[in-house]
Amino acid sequence: MPVYEYQCKECGHHFDKLKPMSKMDEKEECPKCSSNDIVRKLSVFAVGSGSKSGCSASQQESCGG
Ligand SMILES: [Zn+2]
Repeated sequence: MPVYEYQCKECGHHFDKLKPMSKMDEKEECPKCSSNDIVRKLSVFAVGSGSKSGCSASQQESCGG
């Protein structure tokens, strides 16, 4: 499940949310000031590690680097 990273434009509070892709377009609100003026900064996958893509496909090669 991806983690979405948000920043509140209102108070500048930075937070992240773990939620399914099906809800990625859902509006978030700031947990601090309840503003809806939120910008989504980036998303990273919480499951799986590393920046390499397709790493889990090959188990024979070492993935750690
Ligand atoms: Zn806020």
